[in-house]
Amino acid sequence: MAYARFLKSDIYVIMSSGGFLYCVTCSLIDDMNGAGYSAHNTQDMIDHIKQHENAGHRVPENIYEELLKDDAENFPNQNTQNTQPSPTPPPPLTE
Ligand SMILES: [Zn+2]
Repeated sequence: MAYARFLKSDIYVIMSSGGFLYCVTCSLIDDMNGAGYSAHNTQDMIDHIKQHENAGHRVPENIYEELLKDDAENFPNQNTQNTQPSPTPPPPLTE
């Protein structure tokens, strides 16, 4: 699933089948091989895209909404972890 393509914006963000968001050939990363930026949660990619905006790059207006909308789908394991209460609480002390 692609969130931003070079045609409409200066960045190209996809959801990788490897389970992370990927900023393809990221222009913020100074790498001859055209390395991209990997984000392992939605907020991380949002922060990254804001860095692009700050650098004056064009990003799709609705990209943040789109990312947040798909957050649960893109990172199901993370979200279940976040919403689950901490593991078995210690038994109450009896005196
Ligand atoms: Zn980037």
